Amino acid sequence: MRRHRNVKIVATLGPASSSKEMISALFEAGADVFRLNMSHGSHEDHRERYEIIRQIEAEAGRPIAILADLQGPKLRVGKFADGAHDLAPGDRFRFDLDAAEGNGERVQLPHPEIFAALIEGSELLVNDGKIRLRVDECGADFANCTVTVGGTISDRKGVNVPDVVLPLAALSDKDRADLEFACELGVDWLALSFVQRAEDVEEAKSLAKGRAAVLSKIEKPAAVRAFEEILEASDGIMVARGDLGVELPVHSVPPIQKRLVRQCRAAAKPVIVATQMLESMIESPMPTRAEVSDVANAIYEGTDAVMLSAESAAGDFPIEAVRTMDSVARSVEADPNYRSIIDAARRASLSTVPDAIVTAAREIAETTDVAAICVFTQSGKTVSLVGRERPRVPILAMSPIESVLRRMCLTWGTHCVVTGRLSRFKEAVVNATRAARDYGFADETRQVVVVAGVPFNVAGSTNILRIAPCDERLIYASELE
Ligand code: PGA
Ligand code: MN
Repeated sequence: MRRHRNVKIVATLGPASSSKEMISALFEAGADVFRLNMSHGSHEDHRERYEIIRQIEAEAGRPIAILADLQGPKLRVGKFADGAHDLAPGDRFRFDLDAAEGNGERVQLPHPEIFAALIEGSELLVNDGKIRLRVDECGADFANCTVTVGGTISDRKGVNVPDVVLPLAALSDKDRADLEFACELGVDWLALSFVQRAEDVEEAKSLAKGRAAVLSKIEKPAAVRAFEEILEASDGIMVARGDLGVELPVHSVPPIQKRLVRQCRAAAKPVIVATQMLESMIESPMPTRAEVSDVANAIYEGTDAVMLSAESAAGDFPIEAVRTMDSVARSVEADPNYRSIIDAARRASLSTVPDAIVTAAREIAETTDVAAICVFTQSGKTVSLVGRERPRVPILAMSPIESVLRRMCLTWGTHCVVTGRLSRFKEAVVNATRAARDYGFADETRQVVVVAGVPFNVAGSTNILRIAPCDERLIYASELE
């Protein structure tokens, strides 16, 4: 089985998608990456889902990526004596460190770091930004505020403080425990929530110790400002539009999305556009026109992946949601305009040998009728570089190292194929052409581009490009060693 599209689909698992039948159906429908959301569910829930995915992977004979999304320092108010209170514009309301249950005048906000960072005039947002308050006066353990936009405040609602960089640890104790659990389980990617600076990413990487790649969720204004350094420190990026649209005005999210997607492509690092992509499909089998447009536009922008959150984790139509993304992707990618938009956003590549080789591979795919580009990789780096070129033909990512290929499942255009250990280039050519035929990318009459590094089994050695016929007799008849 192969996919007939380049953009990847990430599906979040949850109560609506925990059985083997459902996860299998999501995979069949087009999910390439499964997301375990550590904000919900127990370690046992995640372990069960993890094992089911690995079973499906073994049965399908094709790598699948698993991404564990860490909750991060999510701020929440305490509890209320009677559950909830309505706040109206002009009302005065106090946040403090007192653990006593809240009422219509005050509630606990158990984060001294917030009080230390607030100044008069700062804004506090509660419950997904639905309620807004302005700080009138504050001290080390309190903030007296005026409500500017009213709403209902209730137990444990989330709080956002957009305009200050909070001196918060990037990883809470829960995050550290979840990170260790996820790495031991064997996940391929970790996603870090509420990243504020590049050091946050470096800290997570030092804990992951290479066991998983690390992706930064961009959902705070501080992360948008420090984006270049964060991208440099990260293996991938998520445009986390949910919290980003709370911390910044919603209308500023689309331009940020466009810029981040372009910068990730230039850096050859995968980017996921996430949140509310098909929100109405939580309850309806049909998406809205606007949602279909949103998914389509992210693909036209050149994103590596689009993501489903509650649609697949807790909605009534998880399979329909994946199918919708798959058919939107196929429709966009068949549009001649898509090609011209993607090509126009291409940047000149750097002057290294691997860059020159992948640029040449793209050029060959552009001007001849080769059926695929087959890339042998040790670290995944060359595959990412080919992905950055967004070639017209499929990319076969080939490696004896399954963990490397699993990570590559997030990269635009890749079809991942696990090979045996190789020692000679001729073996690589035979493996590549065989895979191209077996997975339905080419028949015997076609040719493929083969990119590899010799000696084998050394990362960063990409130095060969060959056009090979898919007819094995021709390969063996050639002089090729
Ligand atoms: P979340 O992240 O769903 O974990 O909050 C995504 C987002 O904020 O968009
Ligand atoms: Mn978020």
